[in-house]
Amino acid sequence: MTRRKLIAGNWKMNGDAAALAELDGIAAAAKAAPRVDVAIAVPATLIAPAHARVPGLSIGAEDIHAADKGAHTGCVSAAMVKEAGASFTIVGHSERRADQHETDADVRGKAEAARRNGIAAILCVGETLEQRDAGHAEAVVTAQIAGSLPEGAAADWLSIAYEPVWAIGTGRTPTVGDVAAMHGAIRAKLRALIGGEADKMRLLYGGSVTPDNATELLGASDVDGALVGGASLTAAKFVPIIEAAAKL
Ligand code: PEP
Repeated sequence: MTRRKLIAGNWKMNGDAAALAELDGIAAAAKAAPRVDVAIAVPATLIAPAHARVPGLSIGAEDIHAADKGAHTGCVSAAMVKEAGASFTIVGHSERRADQHETDADVRGKAEAARRNGIAAILCVGETLEQRDAGHAEAVVTAQIAGSLPEGAAADWLSIAYEPVWAIGTGRTPTVGDVAAMHGAIRAKLRALIGGEADKMRLLYGGSVTPDNATELLGASDVDGALVGGASLTAAKFVPIIEAAAKL
């Protein structure tokens, strides 16, 4: 089955009004690569100006609350980010699972809020180094899939990002064989949970993806794109990753 590649950026708590200029080159590269989907998740404060600056580029949120509204000081809902111009959100990033103690059930609720409000979601899973070293990586990741997969999971609005925690922002990556093996395990788990829809769903790899390793990682079996942190902050680094995907 052919799945369109998705190259998604995640600016995390980086960027300001001046940084939005980077989106011009990224939007141009996205336009020049019609076979690739390109998306950038930015801090909540930048969603509206990013969308206004490059309306043709898919702009997203880095997180949302599971509830549609209410007494949740400091949080934003799916409807709020959608109104600001977001077409998708990341949920369950390992930094939120660790820093904000988000559980699989929390992540599931956030993904369901995205669906309820008509935006797409990228659901992140990944093991720690200790878990990998103990030989538990696949069990941990497939359990995260089982626990956080939302009701109504379908490929037209949901993608999964496999992001080994130890590879995020460290410059370290798993071998291509390890990535392919994990993506195969995720696909198999998804098949068990949602049947044939699993074969349409995009599985992204995330963790220190750069212009230098993008071709190799994106070429691995069952890898349908990348979630990119550091290298998405500048067009100079992100555009070659889009171009690498376009060539595959
Ligand atoms: C991420 O934040 O999802 C990520 C993969 O970061 P980096 O590319 O910097 O490792």
